[in-house]
Amino acid sequence: MVTPSPAELAAAPRADVRTAPDGPSGGAGISLRGLRKTFGSAVAVDHVDLDIPAGEFFSMLGPSGSGKTTVLRMIAGFEQPTAGAIHLDGVDVTKTAPFGRDVNTVFQDYALFPHMSVRENVEYGLRVKKVRRAERRERALEALARVRLDHLADRKPGQLSGGQRQRVALARALVNRPRVLLLDEPLGALDLKLRREMQVELKEIQREVGITFIFVTHDQEEALTLSDRIAIFNEGRIQQIATPEELYERPATAFVAGFVGTSNLLEDEQTVALLGHGGTYNLRPERIRLHRSAAAAASPTPHDAEEVAAGGVVREVIYLGSATQTIVDLDAGGSLIVLEQNALGTSDRPATHRGDRVVLTWRRADCVAVAPPTESSPSA
Ligand code: ADP
Ligand code: MG
Repeated sequence: MVTPSPAELAAAPRADVRTAPDGPSGGAGISLRGLRKTFGSAVAVDHVDLDIPAGEFFSMLGPSGSGKTTVLRMIAGFEQPTAGAIHLDGVDVTKTAPFGRDVNTVFQDYALFPHMSVRENVEYGLRVKKVRRAERRERALEALARVRLDHLADRKPGQLSGGQRQRVALARALVNRPRVLLLDEPLGALDLKLRREMQVELKEIQREVGITFIFVTHDQEEALTLSDRIAIFNEGRIQQIATPEELYERPATAFVAGFVGTSNLLEDEQTVALLGHGGTYNLRPERIRLHRSAAAAASPTPHDAEEVAAGGVVREVIYLGSATQTIVDLDAGGSLIVLEQNALGTSDRPATHRGDRVVLTWRRADCVAVAPPTESSPSA
């Protein structure tokens, strides 16, 4: 986590560059071309090409250290790219100072001034830019209303909950009416229940204000919940850019399959034994049927059938509430995770125990070819 410096916090777009005097200003499109950033000999970001249309809720998802924050800071202008270009609505802003870009950032560490009221905190950026008092006030209250906090405008940050403080931070960015909002793990400090609530609110707010959101997270569920599209980052590079559904249903690489949702990766000899040919495939746990009766185990399925069958022994049964996860060690080698919903009628299902012999079946079409996992590439 990078704590914003005072200069970064004040680096809101100039009041005079905003387009609409009232209401939503509309989003701006962003494109990144061949973006690269090195720190000494370490490559933090490489070969990043990205087009984000105006008004999109776009997320950058990836493990810690994969370069997400660095890309965000280059878009904001806090870091200079080593190579590549950044365009904002078709204008090259690669060399433009942060305050010259119509972009605002919300950090996880929201750094509110404790001695100022909520409204004064939201007004602060406008005060620095010498916006008149009456307009300042009006815009601050409007921004607070957007995040449903106008009724708490006179409180101090210390009198707010974590979720409310995060909403103040959001209002402080929205008050500048940026055309692009950059959010770096803004919900990371909140507990799970609050984070879920804020996710829904954030999505609603984005829809209302209609500006482009670029959201950084390492939480796949959060990215799936919020985003129109997601870029999956690994080791400074984008692995895939797609809608949540495409990412889940059609992961391009083994890394994406493993990072978004739970995956069964079928590889090498295992693929040959189960499918009758080589290659790397992803098979989602909920697409596998688990047969508990011995009768089901009778005949092996020929490799050309639409349905694939594999016998095995239950290694583990994990009760997850709405679903049960069963791990099965296959006779053919390796293991598969099976997910069964505990929906209506589940109580009729016989219990499964460790050591039980079972048969798994799935449709061949549910095996999605993915690029095999790559060796971790050394930074160069
Ligand atoms: P993420 O946000 O995905 O966790 P970051 O963009 O923060 O990843 O970091 C990407 C890589 O760049 C990491 O290896 C990190 O250590 C490195 N890095 C980021 N900022 C700096 C910096 N100012 N100096 C040196 N290395 C940095
Ligand atoms: Mg980060």
